[in-house]
Amino acid sequence: MKRTAEVVIVGGGCMGASVAYHLTRRGVTDVVLLEREKLLATGSTGRNAGGVRHQFSNAANITLSIESIGLLERFADEVGQAIDFHQDGYLFLLSTDASVDTFRRNVALQRSLGVEVDWLDAAGAAKVAPGLRTDGILGATFCRRDGVADPNGVTMGFAKAAQAAGATIERDVEVTGIRVSGGRVAGVETSKGAIDAPIVVNAAGPYAKQIGRMAGVDVPVDPYRRHIFIAQASQASTSAASTWSDWNVPSSRVLVIDFETTFYFHREGAGLLFGMGGKNETPTFDTTVQWDFLPQVIDVAVARLPALADASISHAWAGLYEVTPDANPIIGAAAGVDGFFLINGFSGHGFQHSPAAGRILADVIAGRDPKCDLTPFAHARFATDGAATGEKYMV
Ligand SMILES: Cc1cc2nc3c(=O)[nH]c(=O)nc-3n(C[C@H](O)[C@H](O)[C@H](O)COP(=O)(O)OP(=O)(O)OC[C@H]3O[C@@H](n4cnc5c(N)ncnc54)[C@H](O)[C@@H]3O)c2cc1C
Repeated sequence: MKRTAEVVIVGGGCMGASVAYHLTRRGVTDVVLLEREKLLATGSTGRNAGGVRHQFSNAANITLSIESIGLLERFADEVGQAIDFHQDGYLFLLSTDASVDTFRRNVALQRSLGVEVDWLDAAGAAKVAPGLRTDGILGATFCRRDGVADPNGVTMGFAKAAQAAGATIERDVEVTGIRVSGGRVAGVETSKGAIDAPIVVNAAGPYAKQIGRMAGVDVPVDPYRRHIFIAQASQASTSAASTWSDWNVPSSRVLVIDFETTFYFHREGAGLLFGMGGKNETPTFDTTVQWDFLPQVIDVAVARLPALADASISHAWAGLYEVTPDANPIIGAAAGVDGFFLINGFSGHGFQHSPAAGRILADVIAGRDPKCDLTPFAHARFATDGAATGEKYMV
C-alpha cells in the first residue's frame, strides 16, 4: 500500500468515488481512496432506491440536481459506464391543503431555475401511474426528466475512471485514526499501516461522525435505518404468457411518492420496489430488516396501489440514511482542522447528488472556483442557524 498521497479519501461509496474521479479530472491524481469493505458501494450506496429528481424545496438542492442529472444523462459517453438511467419521471402525490400550498411555491422555485415541472390533478396522476388509487389526492407534481439509475454503475464508473487516471483504490482497509498536527491534517492510520497526506476527505456516509471524531471535528450526521421491499406479482394475478400486463401497476419506471405518508414505489426489473419512512425513528447502525414493519407499510401501500394486495414480497433489505439537523448536506472544508474536508449528510438523496457534490468538493480541494454558493453546505452553519433554510422534501 502507498505510504504517502496528496489526498486520502475515506469511504468507497458514490461520494468517495465521485470526489476521486473529479480530482483526477483536475490534475490531482496522487489520490488514495480507502474502503474498509471488500467491495465498493456496499454501504448506503448499494442499498438505495436509485431515485433521481429535480423536485426539491430549496434552490441549493435543485441546483445540485440540475448539474448531477446533466452528468448522469451523459455518463456513458463522459465517464464510460452504462448506468441504466430511465427518465420516466417522479410523481409527488399531495393530499393536504398545506402540502398543495408548499408544493405550489416549490414548483414556482423549480421553474424559476429552469426545471420543467407539471402540476397535475388526480386524473392526470392516474394517467402517469396506472393502477394508482387517487382517493383524497388534491394535486400532484410531475417532472419527466426525473428518474431512476443504477447506483453501483455510477460508483464503479467514477472509480474505474479515477483509477485509469492514476488514483489508487484500496479495499479491505479500515481507517482507524486521523493524524492532526498543529491544527492541520497530517495523514491517516489504517488497519494496514499509516499514510502521510496533507488532505483527507471524509466520505464515510453514515459513519461520518466517527471519522470526524478521529480528527477532533464534530460532524452532525446521524444514521437512520430505512427499508426497501421488493414485490412480485403473485401467480394468481399473472399468467405465464403475460407476467406484467395483468398486474395493475405502472409499466414505466415512474417513481411515485405519496408525500404525506412517504410511501414510494417504482418498477424494478420484473418486480416493484417500495419503501416508506417509519414513525419515531431513532439513530441506529442496525441494518437488520424489521419484518414487523412490513404490515404498516402494506396498509398504506395497498390504499394507494391496490395491486400490491395480491403481491408476494420476494426480498427486503435495510440501509442507513445519513441525516444532518437541516437535511442538507455538508460539502467543503471542516471547521477547525485545515486539510480536512467533508462530503456528508445527504439525508436520503445522496446518490443523485454525488456527481455535482464530488465536482464541487474537487474544485475546492484543487483551489478552483466551485462556481456555486457553498453557504447552504457549510459545516460552520450548524454553529449558527442552518435549519431555517433546510430541505423539506426528505422522503
Ligand atoms: C433505503 C435507502 C434508500 C435510498 N434511496 C435513495 C434514492 O432513491 N436516491 C438517492 O439519491 N439517495 C438515496 N438514498 C441515500 C443514498 O444512498 C446516500 O445518500 C448515499 O449513498 C451516500 O453515499 P456515501 O458514499 O456518502 O455513503 P456510503 O455509500 O455509505 O459509503 C461510505 C463508505 O464508507 C466506508 N467506511 C465507513 N467507515 C470507514 C472507515 N473507518 N474506513 C474505511 N471505510 C469506511 C463504508 O464501508 C462505506 O462503503 C437512500 C438510502 C437508503 C438507505
